[in-house]
Amino acid sequence: MESVIVLWSAAAAAAMVLAVLCGLMWLMDRRDTASLMLCILGISTAAAAYVELGLMHARTPEEFGAWIRWYHLPLFPALVAQVFFVHFYLESSTKWLMWGVVLTRSFIFIANFLLQPNYHFSSIESVHFVSVLGAQVSAIEHAVPRRGLQSIAVLSLLLLFLYVMSAAVRCWRKGGAEQRRRALAVGLAEGLPMLLTILYGQLVIFGVLGGPISNIPWFLGALLIMGYVSVHDFVLSRRARLEAAELRSQLAQIERINLLGRLASALSHELSQPMSAMSLNLGAALKRLKQAPPDTAELAAILNDVDNDNDRAIDIIKRIRQLFKQRAIELNPIRVEDAVKNAVSLAEAEAKAKSVALQLGIPPGLPLVSGDSIHLSQVLLNLLMNGIQAVQSRPADARQIVIEARADLAKGEVEVCVRDSGPGVPGTIVHRIFDPLFTTKPEGMGMGLAISHTIIEAHGGRLWVGKDAGQEGAAFHFTLRAA
Ligand code: ADP
Repeated sequence: MESVIVLWSAAAAAAMVLAVLCGLMWLMDRRDTASLMLCILGISTAAAAYVELGLMHARTPEEFGAWIRWYHLPLFPALVAQVFFVHFYLESSTKWLMWGVVLTRSFIFIANFLLQPNYHFSSIESVHFVSVLGAQVSAIEHAVPRRGLQSIAVLSLLLLFLYVMSAAVRCWRKGGAEQRRRALAVGLAEGLPMLLTILYGQLVIFGVLGGPISNIPWFLGALLIMGYVSVHDFVLSRRARLEAAELRSQLAQIERINLLGRLASALSHELSQPMSAMSLNLGAALKRLKQAPPDTAELAAILNDVDNDNDRAIDIIKRIRQLFKQRAIELNPIRVEDAVKNAVSLAEAEAKAKSVALQLGIPPGLPLVSGDSIHLSQVLLNLLMNGIQAVQSRPADARQIVIEARADLAKGEVEVCVRDSGPGVPGTIVHRIFDPLFTTKPEGMGMGLAISHTIIEAHGGRLWVGKDAGQEGAAFHFTLRAA
């Protein structure tokens, strides 16, 4: 008997450890109902191991019958927990099969406590001892099974098997590596031991096999594999959450630095004009004051000009602050053409001053895209300004930037490309250009591409650089989802 006690106690201890682990995972994330189900399965498995030891110790048919009766107390939650575990873990179960299992098991659970000696047998005449793992354990010798009720029990278990396998197949068919991994884990951890245990249990009940009644290998096997998979998922998702939080805080920091830089340069550029006008006027006013007698009418006119310039400066500060106020991305159906034209109108003066020809190739009838026009104009402006700087190494008549767009109806996307005739992005730095603060320019901030990348990702698109075949220079592509 010793070896059986040691093994079953170890199984109960392992089940409890897994139950505590899964319970903790559920406490940390209450949406993780699958872990709660594993926790219930763990507790039920430990209780089932205790009852099975009682069964194996039973000396009389009455004692044996009573233990089978009590066996339903952990069996019911163990089976129902597995049903709901599959439901929450695979998210692709068949509802009628699920409720079919729950209803039949509830019926068996209630009927079991209304019948003597238990649900499965109308009478147990004798028990005898059989050898299991070198120990003598109690097993049925002569008993009369309730054939009608037993067929309902078999049906409920077959429904359970069908339910688990159909959920695994449906999950597998969804495609995706993650779905397939989950489907395989459930199919192997649940389906296989379940089928073997159902077969074995029926052979024992109908007297074909003389071994002890036990579901522990099934429950513990399922618990071990599913517990391992869940802990693995939990660790991965926690790591992903931490990385995402870190990335978000880095991006927020980057956005702040970038905003500050742009705010400073926009302010200095816009304010230089009214400030120098004020300085000139104040110089003129001082000169007039030194005259005797001072021309008060002219002085009043000069001070009036200073006042006007001061108002203009205040106005500029207000307008620029408004422009740079942090705003979240708002996705609306917009025309790519509008965002392109917007960016081109902003870059036009710079392009002209630096002898760069801007060329548009936007076909008519492009589908609307889901986007934030201000943010997209910002991305295009960044790419255009980089292009303008890149083509400066070329002779004036070879400085060109082409902006093209095309629809990919199969993918439901629109792809935009900004291509320049510059030297292209050297292979040695191409993997770093989207990194924040990476720049090769003496006056660069290294933020334009990092911000653009974030904006396009927030739109659910991709931004990448390529060197298009037969073309010189860099080609920046990005995709946007059709609205
Ligand atoms: P910045 O323009 O301030 O350097 P970006 O993030 O916009 O910051 O660009 C990062 C780097 O990517 C640039 O310093 C440059 O080396 C490279 N790069 C960007 N656009 C181009 C381009 N059109 N052609 C060649 N290199 C480019």
